[in-house]
Amino acid sequence: MRAQPTGSHYINGRFHDSPNGAELVSIFPATGEVIAKLNAADDETIELAMSMAESGQKIWAATPPLERGRVLQKAAAILREKNRELSVLETLDTGKPLQETLVADAASGADCLEYFGNLAGSLTGEHIDLGGSFAYTKREPLGVCVGIGAWNYPVQIACWKAAPALACGNAMVFKPSEVTPLTALRLAEALTEAGLPAGVFNVVQGFGDVGAKLIAHPKTAKVSLTGSVPTGSKVAALAGEHLKKITLELGGKSPLIVFEDADIENAVSAAINANFYSSGQICSNGTRVFVHSSIKQAFLKRLVERTGNAVLGDPLNEETNIGPLVSKPQLEKVLSYMRIGQDEGARLVCGGGAAEVATLHGGYFVQPTVFADVTDQMRIAREEIFGPVMSVLDFETEDEVLARANATEFGLAAGVFTKDIQRAHRVIDSLQAGTCWINTYNLTPIEMPFGGYKKSGVGRENGHAAIEYYSQIKSVYVEMNGVEAPF
Ligand code: NAD
Repeated sequence: MRAQPTGSHYINGRFHDSPNGAELVSIFPATGEVIAKLNAADDETIELAMSMAESGQKIWAATPPLERGRVLQKAAAILREKNRELSVLETLDTGKPLQETLVADAASGADCLEYFGNLAGSLTGEHIDLGGSFAYTKREPLGVCVGIGAWNYPVQIACWKAAPALACGNAMVFKPSEVTPLTALRLAEALTEAGLPAGVFNVVQGFGDVGAKLIAHPKTAKVSLTGSVPTGSKVAALAGEHLKKITLELGGKSPLIVFEDADIENAVSAAINANFYSSGQICSNGTRVFVHSSIKQAFLKRLVERTGNAVLGDPLNEETNIGPLVSKPQLEKVLSYMRIGQDEGARLVCGGGAAEVATLHGGYFVQPTVFADVTDQMRIAREEIFGPVMSVLDFETEDEVLARANATEFGLAAGVFTKDIQRAHRVIDSLQAGTCWINTYNLTPIEMPFGGYKKSGVGRENGHAAIEYYSQIKSVYVEMNGVEAPF
């Protein structure tokens, strides 16, 4: 498959190039091979994207919402038709196994376009009775929204931002992560094919400096970032300086709590999904697995047995469960945490280093790794690693585990396994996290709002909640009587 796109950027319904912009490459992480060369946006390209978005937005906002919805639904159908092709491209760009990209990336993006497409025609304001006179509210778009993506779910992140923004009548300029620039361009093409007016969804490539220029641009009304907490602080500071509205989807160090009455096999499945899916490169991962001490041995035994069955290798092979990490810097970061865990005295139960794949040289593979006897103070239990490194911590009582689970600056997600229905809800009520699961983990259907407490984020994506972050309410007072004045 040819990964090289027709052009680096997609502006006003067509590809665009900026040959003088800094070089930006896409690397197939299973081999380290360069599969596409692009250029970052220069200032003229940013200017062009912003002004095309501004004109496109006016046309789009005047399009009846039901018609806007039809375009999004058609784009969803196009993504579904092209799912295999898009999945292979996502696998080449990210290294995530095709087994995953076939079901979780463009497919979930299509769900998102369909969901917000269905919602577009039913966005309404309200009528407020003032006793004779009345007021009404209208839900209006914000204008040009900037989306900035992370590299772990490139096309899904682009859809999670574009679909609610477009449903509300906004235009978007989207900057993918410089590590995974390819599939957002395919989304732009699909939206054009579905009938989206030119300029309403644009893609510009670039590093953090391009993101910063987009945020500070006078035509930008709002920015939605998916990225790390340090980038989130910089984006919030810059957006604050220019008083731009923000949504921030940031990192986490989420707890998964397994009580003594849990179904151990299901809890092990959840811990595997919460740490090893996408080679652990998922923001909401339950990387602190608190297991009641009475079931710790049984839990670890099954966890190690089942992790030993994982097929690690070529991500383009559909039998592969675990592919490489996304990049060399990510590989080095994850390997350093594997060493830190051992230096800190955590007990290495399995994995612990780089992995060799006989047929692929130069890939960024690491072994799925489990540390037991981890304590709260260890860095592997406090810092986001973003790799397949699970920390298992013991606990004795509900109060104790709740206090420890909440003792973090993050608050993205949390999970609890128990058969006691009252305990499940009681524990969830006390967990400081924006997205929670009872007896499962990491399922993020588009209907359910997603986002973080504390330093893990601002605002929500998905569900009806996302509409609040891509629209503004206009209140209109209608006087039905005369106007009194003091003189
Ligand atoms: P990152 O913070 O390094 O980069 C994210 C994006 O921000 C990139 O497009 C980057 O170019 C851009 N950027 C960097 N500096 C910027 C600046 N000063 N101004 C504007 N834009 C700037 O994150 P990453 O390494 O790409 O992704 C991994 C991180 O993303 C992890 O922390 C993970 O938890 C988080 N993440 C969160 C969610 C969520 O929904 N909460 C989802 C996926 C990933």
